[in-house]
Amino acid sequence: MDRRSFLAGSAAMASTLWAMRAARAAPLTFGSGSIESISDGTLTLPIGFVLPGQSPEEISDLFQPHGLATDALRPDCNVTLLRLPDRTVLFDAGSGANFQPTAGKLLEGLEAAGLTPADITDVVFTHGHPDHLWGVLDDFGDPLFTSARHWVPQGEWDYWRAEDTLANTPEERKSFVAGAQTRLDAIADQVEMVTAGMEVLPGVEAVSTLGHTPGHMSYMLHAGSESLLVTGDAISNSVISFERPDWHSGTDQDPVLGAKTRMALLDRIASERTRILGYHLPHPGLGMAERKGTAYRFVPA
Ligand SMILES: [Zn+2]
Repeated sequence: MDRRSFLAGSAAMASTLWAMRAARAAPLTFGSGSIESISDGTLTLPIGFVLPGQSPEEISDLFQPHGLATDALRPDCNVTLLRLPDRTVLFDAGSGANFQPTAGKLLEGLEAAGLTPADITDVVFTHGHPDHLWGVLDDFGDPLFTSARHWVPQGEWDYWRAEDTLANTPEERKSFVAGAQTRLDAIADQVEMVTAGMEVLPGVEAVSTLGHTPGHMSYMLHAGSESLLVTGDAISNSVISFERPDWHSGTDQDPVLGAKTRMALLDRIASERTRILGYHLPHPGLGMAERKGTAYRFVPA
């Protein structure tokens, strides 16, 4: 087998595996609707970017029992799909085509779920980072979800669009700001603001979880006595966030507030035994937090 046919074969196999994986996660019944995790693909985040304050020994001590590679994290990206009798809701929109080549697969997952972008009635955003917002436009730069209302946390809208944000952002992240501004401008006619505690849609409660970004929002979904928290990036890794929630994350724009928010949220979901769906937890991202000593462990569920 030459290199070319090997690569073609690998690509075919990767797309078959992708299809199997996309088809695998079955919807959860939730009240009179359902919840499903749609994969947007994966990202690669160098470890020095994720944990700038930790020594290689500390990282390897934490990662080794889990068999995790110590060079980079390769997180999944899980978009929550909530189907209600009269609404079809996405939480975040994935990366689109212009962020990392392994991400931006949302449309394939939606197709496997029998949906087109025009079927989506609401897109509810946790925050404005590229892997959550940039998938909101099509390849021509036009809004992809043509019939949808786009719910944006007021704090995110204000922060990304403020005149001084670009100047106050480190060089390596300036593209995040320019990218967010382009997308938010393009969807402006379809935007509705989200504020903390508001009932965005029936049974969808906005829960303020600041730190990862200045206006980050999580969403508690309610149906009768059932509930599920869509965490966004307030809890972002199944090992680090749970076992060392106090460690400062380089992905958090305010690492001190990010850690404080994460610890409070873990305490709440462990006490209330709330199921979560985490954007970057192992696909499909569903699970719970169990107390382990002074910290937690992630239990897929
Ligand atoms: Zn993210």
